[in-house]
Amino acid sequence: MPGDPSVTRDPAPLGRLDQVADGVFAWIQEDGTWWINNAGYVAGDDVGVLIDTCTTEARTRALLDAVDAVAGGRPLAYALNTHHHGDHTYGNSLLEPTTVIVGQHLMREGMLADRTLEDFPPFWSPTPEFGDLRRRAPGLTFGDRASVHLGGRQVDLVHPGYTAHTDGDAAAWVPDVRVLFVGDLLFPGHTPMIMAGVPSGAIRSLAWIDSFDADIVVPGHGPVIQASELAQVLALHEAYYEFVLREGRRGIATGLTPLEVARSADLGEFGGLLDPERFVLNVHSAYAELRGGAVDRKAALADAVAWMGRAIHTKV
Ligand SMILES: [Zn+2]
Repeated sequence: MPGDPSVTRDPAPLGRLDQVADGVFAWIQEDGTWWINNAGYVAGDDVGVLIDTCTTEARTRALLDAVDAVAGGRPLAYALNTHHHGDHTYGNSLLEPTTVIVGQHLMREGMLADRTLEDFPPFWSPTPEFGDLRRRAPGLTFGDRASVHLGGRQVDLVHPGYTAHTDGDAAAWVPDVRVLFVGDLLFPGHTPMIMAGVPSGAIRSLAWIDSFDADIVVPGHGPVIQASELAQVLALHEAYYEFVLREGRRGIATGLTPLEVARSADLGEFGGLLDPERFVLNVHSAYAELRGGAVDRKAALADAVAWMGRAIHTKV
């Protein structure tokens, strides 16, 4: 409960800035559950690029302090948002007004339409301690791709060309060191979330991610992925999305509601992934794709809460 003195927050550091290649860093926040994301930083010759912010003022300030410590005085010229969800964007308003925020144009529209920060729904508990934040959407948008030139280095911002995790997804590719930041197109160790996406697009995005032939892939949640681990991570995501579609087809064929599908499904190997309740949300997404139409997000989240028998726990 907000303001309840009996609720103690984790005193451990909020995140860790790991250098994954020369001048390229991953901000890893454990355990990566709901609202606890990864971000990144790329140093250029004279200026730097941030990749995503965080959910709360405290978590974004921790990210910005860690970046400041490695930036060697380089100002943050750009910040890329990989998609519009608040765990990757709410901290945008803490950036300097001179930092240009960049996103795919549908990402910007999605952020402008999402009132979750101002009107937080009761599906998660406790309500995140957002701090002094306001929505700040990108000032610069692109369609398929854009490149940020940083002297001897460039960062390419690339949209898959279809809806996967969201309609405005973008990956950040640093070609000189072959590092790919994919945002929430990958969730290693976690249950992937596609309530705002399309299951077949999420499947399609896996081959697209593979096509970069990256040495390092930084996901939106979970640990950094080495090239040698990527095939296994992609295969698990594909198997999970296929499972979601299969269960959606079963539910539609037998006249079940998404909640009834979730209650009668055997999650099997996927039951051990973090945040298994996302299955309920993902079945809603499968229904939307298979029958046509859009996900009713409030109904989907209410079903996830019903499936768990309690609100979704948050640690932010
Ligand atoms: Zn996320």
